[in-house]
Amino acid sequence: MIYLDNAATTPLSERAAKEQVYWACSNFFNPSATYLPAVKVAQKLGEARDRLKKLLGAKDGDIIFTSGATEANNLAIRGSLRGGEWEYVFSAGEHPSVLNLAKALESEGKSVKFAPLNSSGQVDLDALEKLLTPKTRLVSCMFVSNVTGAVNDIKKLSQIVRKKSPRALIHVDGVQAFCKLPFKLSQLDVDLFAISAHKFHGPKGVGALYVKNKAALKNMVYGGGQEYGLRSGTENVAGIMAMLAAAEEIDADKNYEKVSKIKAAFVEEIKCDGIESLSFESSSPYILTLLCTGVNGETLVRMLEDEVIVGRGSACSSKKAGNHVLEAMKISLEKIKGALRVSFDASLTLEEAKSAAKIIKEKYQNLAEKMK
Ligand code: PMP
Repeated sequence: MIYLDNAATTPLSERAAKEQVYWACSNFFNPSATYLPAVKVAQKLGEARDRLKKLLGAKDGDIIFTSGATEANNLAIRGSLRGGEWEYVFSAGEHPSVLNLAKALESEGKSVKFAPLNSSGQVDLDALEKLLTPKTRLVSCMFVSNVTGAVNDIKKLSQIVRKKSPRALIHVDGVQAFCKLPFKLSQLDVDLFAISAHKFHGPKGVGALYVKNKAALKNMVYGGGQEYGLRSGTENVAGIMAMLAAAEEIDADKNYEKVSKIKAAFVEEIKCDGIESLSFESSSPYILTLLCTGVNGETLVRMLEDEVIVGRGSACSSKKAGNHVLEAMKISLEKIKGALRVSFDASLTLEEAKSAAKIIKEKYQNLAEKMK
């Protein structure tokens, strides 16, 4: 079986698994306790924040460890809310952990605006600029789309936001970018950046929020005051240490080159009548949406599952009909019906990628023939 749903999740690396067992079984002390072994764990946790900042390329700011990116996104957005006449701007292509929260804020009476996507799946920066005012409190835009792999120009976005809305915080969902795209947070000029360990061979249920200025954020949960009072609850030390081990193993630059070749070989091999690869100049090499005309994508996923595992848009929302990202790109519902998401990993070989493409093409052609 060839696994091509790496944007949904990845297997835990062996090094990360060993680290997790060590911190769960041997060095298991509660970092908030006052005896020496616990204090040492707290010190290691502090070092883990610095290690993560280094990996992110952040020169200042703090790390808040969370249960994953859903929580990190919620903390970033809810934590930024203020009373009064503030406005909140979201890209229309966001993950449900952002988009559904934006809709909830709207129903709570906040002034919420959505910036459209262009036909390459990126947020339309001209349209976004028109939505910005001096009253904008937060702008939220993902770095890489989990559906199409479209890469947003975050540097340009922050330049626009700083100019038009100097009091706004910039939040970026960096889940599909961290450990994948070569970047440095210090060059992006953002205030809040969310990551999730299970997307880069770390454990599920662990993530982090980078916060440039923690005084600008309010806590969502109340408790013992861990994580600078912004996220109470005993830290998942074993998960955090495993996340760091996984991230430190990755050479994002080297992998980027390798995965670019894998994607190019896959795109070449899958070429046929009826399958369109949504690949743009600005796309991440890790994610590719295929529009398979005349078939039901769900049926195709199930026909393939013994040989090749692929996804449909986002695993978190794939049980729901439609695809808000492809719809925002004005792709027809007929094409969206046959959409598949293929997502790669550096552990794949070129041969595996080509052979998966051949299998998908073959099964697609069989199914399309039956549907005629
Ligand atoms: N944002 C994006 C872009 C994602 O792809 C995901 C995972 N599907 C999340 C947020 C949510 O991450 P987690 O599973 O850690 O809650």
